[in-house]
Amino acid sequence: MICVSIGRMRHKMVRAEHRHLAEQGAQLVEIRLDWLGSRAGITRLLRNRPTPVIMTCRRAEDGGRWTGTEDQRQTLLREAIVCGADYVDLEQDVARSVPRFGDTKRIVSYHNFDETPENLAGIHADMLEKDPDLIKIVTLARAPADNVRMLQLVSSSKMPTIGFCMGGFGVVSRLLCGRYGSPFTYASSSSRREIAPGQLSFDEMSKLYRYDSINRETDVYGVLGDPVAHSLSPLIHNAAFQQQNVNAVYVPLQVAADQLPAALDAFDWLRICGYSVTIPHKQAVLDKADTRDDVAARIGAANTLTIQDTRWHATNTDCDAALESIRAVRDTDDSEDPIAGRRVLMLGAGGVARAVGLAITRAQGQLTIANRTAGRAEQLARELACAHIAWDDRASADPEILINCTSAGMQPNVNETPFDAESLRTGTLVFDTVYTPENTLLLEQARARGCRTVSGMDMFVRQAARQYELFVGHTAPMDHIRETLHQHLSVAKR
Ligand code: NAP
Repeated sequence: MICVSIGRMRHKMVRAEHRHLAEQGAQLVEIRLDWLGSRAGITRLLRNRPTPVIMTCRRAEDGGRWTGTEDQRQTLLREAIVCGADYVDLEQDVARSVPRFGDTKRIVSYHNFDETPENLAGIHADMLEKDPDLIKIVTLARAPADNVRMLQLVSSSKMPTIGFCMGGFGVVSRLLCGRYGSPFTYASSSSRREIAPGQLSFDEMSKLYRYDSINRETDVYGVLGDPVAHSLSPLIHNAAFQQQNVNAVYVPLQVAADQLPAALDAFDWLRICGYSVTIPHKQAVLDKADTRDDVAARIGAANTLTIQDTRWHATNTDCDAALESIRAVRDTDDSEDPIAGRRVLMLGAGGVARAVGLAITRAQGQLTIANRTAGRAEQLARELACAHIAWDDRASADPEILINCTSAGMQPNVNETPFDAESLRTGTLVFDTVYTPENTLLLEQARARGCRTVSGMDMFVRQAARQYELFVGHTAPMDHIRETLHQHLSVAKR
């Protein structure tokens, strides 16, 4: 179950939000009394409540906003119990001072905003002595492995224990705690109303991740990267799982550059079935893989890890995705391959350029590379046995296909373009691998000059679809994925 935290200044707003959340399907809410701007009217907040309620009043040291005295706070918590709140949250150091009464269930809680202490079991054992009905233990994850220690605690506890980690590194435990027996997880009422670090909104938890349908049988996949908070991969994969009724969830796994080996070892306990891999791990992940396909080996980078016969196999789906994206713009009556024999100018010599460059040379395109730093263009051209030109000469190259593999034009630098509009010729095929934004300045100018265009978003969707197929073994629902993405991006734009 998902418990939605309501933190509002006015009673009226708390009640309105509570009603709204119940209409949206919320089954339990936490009312944060410390957020109220005036003395809490407990009876008013509980009257005709549309769902059960947890009453919580957090001190500043536990991440709350309470400014009154400790006596006043405990009086309020006692009042909540007397008024018949369904649950009351009592920090472990004061739990003994607030006695049990009536049917109100006692959540004895521990919060740590600095770290996930080594001695989680000891802290939990102490909390068992404080007359709990449920234990809640929430700590800041400093490393991915902290999530695993927390979930192991939840899984082994005989007392129902809500346990997860806060912060960007902790998101995976918020999503998976129910799988290990946590009676509920917590969510914010909307993405603008995060109450604790790393908290997801009720909408994300319930619709995107389908938290309530995650169980012991659910296969878990995830994207390894840093940052991953704004990755579109969870949206794509979870939409596909839902559409095809696959009992699987895809989660963001924030892992810093120096944490990869330890994180992968720790995640073994979660029995993760497959990973997407993004910056900064695309190269390092090859060291962790037992085997790699030819493309990943040639590029020296992988974007996918799957299990093959109990061993990790590294793949790179960017190469095929780039080819498919270009070939998809071919006219239906045009039987010629749009790449073979064509003059292709590729701008950039970084990670994506390695995959796209390999794709073009394999498809027999006549590839020329231009890069801001000449040495990198030279190096990549040597590896791919193709031509390179100086960055300043790119406008005179006269390509039939122009591909941008630089990050010029990527958010926030949306007014940048790596190629002068005047040098774009009608009929050229212009492919921009940048996908944030989907409509880059380069693509807009190319359309205005009568060029055919391919967007980085198309490639992004295709590389994810190939991953999906490696994960589950059947074709991805491309139309549904595209529609979900477009809906998401149009809402995000508003
Ligand atoms: P990378 O390895 O860091 O390489 C960046 C490249 O961009 C380098 O060649 C760099 O040139 C060049 N560059 C950066 N800023 C520039 C500027 N202002 N003017 C000219 N050149 C500039 O990054 P990457 O992983 O290859 O990613 C590059 C882009 O591809 C990103 O926008 C990324 O979002 C996109 N991408 C798309 C997909 C997809 O599926 N559509 C997949 C992966 C990446 P120097 O060598 O001179 O620094």
